[in-house]
Amino acid sequence: MQILSLQTDDRIATMFLELDDGSRRPLPYTRLRAACRCAECMALKLQGGHIPTDGVALQTLKPIGTNALNLAFSDGHERGIYPLSYLIELTTAQ
Ligand SMILES: [Zn+2]
Repeated sequence: MQILSLQTDDRIATMFLELDDGSRRPLPYTRLRAACRCAECMALKLQGGHIPTDGVALQTLKPIGTNALNLAFSDGHERGIYPLSYLIELTTAQ
């Protein structure tokens, strides 16, 4: 599965992925923030902590090569690298 395009809608704090299967899938910013896999967030999760996501907004979105995005959030967290395949996975995983 490939991402054809990606939009963000700050009014509803959601990213939308348009996929090559014709679907348009929502991905709320809170879910993106909670799914961060940087060392810091992974360590927190391993210790049983949880990432506060209430009201978090997406601030910047920067391509890393052609297969990943670096996302920066309004809580100051800007280390998360999200491979495009991981973004697709997040739209389907419950
Ligand atoms: Zn993180």
